[in-house]
Amino acid sequence: MVEKNIDYHALKKRGFLRQKQEGYFTVRTRMGLGKFSAEQLSALSEVTRKYANGFAHLTTRQGVEIPFIKLENIESVERELRKGNIEFGASGATLRTITVCPGNNWCRFGLIDTFKLLERIEKEINLECNMELPHKFKIAISGCPNSCTRPQVSEIGIHGEVATKDSGRRIGYRVYIGGCGGRNPRTGFRVDKIFSDTEVLEMIAKVVNFFKNNAKPRQRLALLIEEIGKENFLRQLGL
Ligand code: SF4
Repeated sequence: MVEKNIDYHALKKRGFLRQKQEGYFTVRTRMGLGKFSAEQLSALSEVTRKYANGFAHLTTRQGVEIPFIKLENIESVERELRKGNIEFGASGATLRTITVCPGNNWCRFGLIDTFKLLERIEKEINLECNMELPHKFKIAISGCPNSCTRPQVSEIGIHGEVATKDSGRRIGYRVYIGGCGGRNPRTGFRVDKIFSDTEVLEMIAKVVNFFKNNAKPRQRLALLIEEIGKENFLRQLGL
């Protein structure tokens, strides 16, 4: 029998999403700092075996979702995943998990350290996964222009790029703003400069804050930029 008075919204904020099958929930986890350790994989495997149907699903935002968790097992699942250092994924009108490719950590094409940039975004400018915003907001980071994490279709997309100037060569960050998928997909526009380590963090903080302070509820960044005009948007951000 299904219990009444379940706070589905609160469960969703904790990472437990209501399924179409009554009484069942999918727990959404995320790959914090770009990778799952062996310990984390063991915890995920154990929960899948003990409390679910023995399988998991990989999300497009690089998390693991475990479906078919019963309501009465939510507390145990949460406790065991936390013990295994698993972080919970985001949903709804929030900053979603930042997706990253391996970058120069092991991909032979990688120009930038994608994991390091992700860590700096979370620790230096305090953009935490699941922070509430007017609508969903996605950030994708790729190590090189091959763009494996599809930065062009995220609210903020970044990839490593080689900048050449006055016969010098430096590696920096190419940025796209205002892309999205969904029912009204958009390709983000390419900002006409290569950003440095410091500049790229400042830019991300400015864009997220601008979105937080100016978007209407359920308005994605692409539609906010269309409403106010790209030049006006860039001017307000000092880009
Ligand atoms: S975007 Fe570049 S660095 Fe990242 S996985 Fe693809 S090829 Fe490798």
